Amino acid sequence: MFLKIKHFLSKIKILRSFLVRIFIIIVLVGSLPSLFIRYGILSTYTERAISLRISDVQTQGRILANHLVTYNYLQDSTSEVINAELSQLAEVYNGRVLIVDQNFKVIKDTYGLSVGKFMVSEEIIKCFNGENTTNYDEKNQYIEMTIPIVVSVEQTNPEGQSVSTSVVQGVLLISVSTESTQMTLRLLNRNAVLIELALFILIVGIAGGIAYLVTRPFHHVTSEIQKLQAGHYNDKISVPEYWETERISDAFNELYARIRVLDESRDEFVSNVSHELKTPMTSMKVLADSLLMQEDVPAELYREFMVDIADEIDRENKIINDLLSLVKMDKTKADLNIAQTDINALLELILKRLRPIAIKRDVEITLECIRPVTAEVDEVKLTLAISNLVENAIKYNNEHGWVKVLLDADHQYFTVEVSDSGLGIPEEAMDHIYERFYRVDKSHSREIGGTGLGLAITRSAILMHRGTIRASSTVGEGTTFLVRIPLIYVK
Ligand code: ADP
Repeated sequence: MFLKIKHFLSKIKILRSFLVRIFIIIVLVGSLPSLFIRYGILSTYTERAISLRISDVQTQGRILANHLVTYNYLQDSTSEVINAELSQLAEVYNGRVLIVDQNFKVIKDTYGLSVGKFMVSEEIIKCFNGENTTNYDEKNQYIEMTIPIVVSVEQTNPEGQSVSTSVVQGVLLISVSTESTQMTLRLLNRNAVLIELALFILIVGIAGGIAYLVTRPFHHVTSEIQKLQAGHYNDKISVPEYWETERISDAFNELYARIRVLDESRDEFVSNVSHELKTPMTSMKVLADSLLMQEDVPAELYREFMVDIADEIDRENKIINDLLSLVKMDKTKADLNIAQTDINALLELILKRLRPIAIKRDVEITLECIRPVTAEVDEVKLTLAISNLVENAIKYNNEHGWVKVLLDADHQYFTVEVSDSGLGIPEEAMDHIYERFYRVDKSHSREIGGTGLGLAITRSAILMHRGTIRASSTVGEGTTFLVRIPLIYVK
């Protein structure tokens, strides 16, 4: 039920505003009590006024009943005094008085309408039995009551003693109007409504003011962000009015700073890419121009320059391929094609593919598998990652050098260690080797066909497998890369 109401309210667009909600709550909390108070006071007043009137009329009626007995009115209804009293009573209370005798015959009616008629009602019968009745008819606005006319009769009991007993000889039927009470009530109600209305207007004003003040810091947050967007400020927003808005601004600032860093690194990446792609182009242009500017160029020189141009095209191709691999790695994990893979076979295949390059550089490569390993990995991406490491170990090696690949596993992870007897990486470069386009020795790396993207690709691929990569190196002695990947892929 509560949820249904909540769902319904959330559909009303305007109620989704914090300001409107606070406004409504304050108006309700402020004005509902006055409604209850008015209802409470007026109903207490009505009850009290009616009961006062009843007891008043009852007292008057009893006095009159006694007079009736004194004047023996039931037997002789011509008494001027009583008739005057009856008329006065009817007039004062804006009502009607009837007197019914023991035979249920009306002997007096101040309206003069029912004299001589018989009147038998539940109330009259009850009254003859000694029970007073009072009825308040709220709808028709009158009170009706019966008062017994009691006569003391002297009787002699069987022992011959005279005893006086009370006998109900008639009934006084009085009905009085409560219109005056209702009029007072209406007047009070009207005044109360007027006061309430004034109060309501005041509460609406106060509620509007409070709602505005309470929500102002949130508008402030929005306007600060808009200013930031428009470029008025350049680094952060500050809304310290509330603890909550301060936290929102802090979180926003953190996010914004991260976006800016991302933005900057993207700009840097784009400029690096352009630069890297331009370098082979420039070389090709220089080579081509120098051929074009000379006349009668010998065929051997043409050939030599064309070989150089083809090399540059290969290089351009490699950079583009590496960039594409990197972009693929940057995509979501959904792109991972995880399957149970024989890691020993995978490493053997990698080494088989790279052996020709190693032979060319006179580097010996060996694979040692401590145990057979199968793991949940993306074969293509992992192959790329490990190939890059082994290729680097061959590329940045010395003549007659060696590269060792070692596979091991425990119950949770498998590890691939790629160590070489090569150049090593200087201490200060260790933190940067995974950065895109970073190369320790730019010209040397270029010479041996490096793009500076290999380790970035490797690291991304390993992180996608929830793995880790660590490197240790000594310049002049060699480098070791240690890759550690869970045997079971965790999403
Ligand atoms: P590149 O395509 O230039 O090899 P990488 O991202 O693969 O780019 O490597 C970044 C740099 O780290 C390389 O330029 C090289 O200077 C250094 N490096 C990587 N692996 C080794 C290694 N096994 N031995 C020495 N230096 C290495």
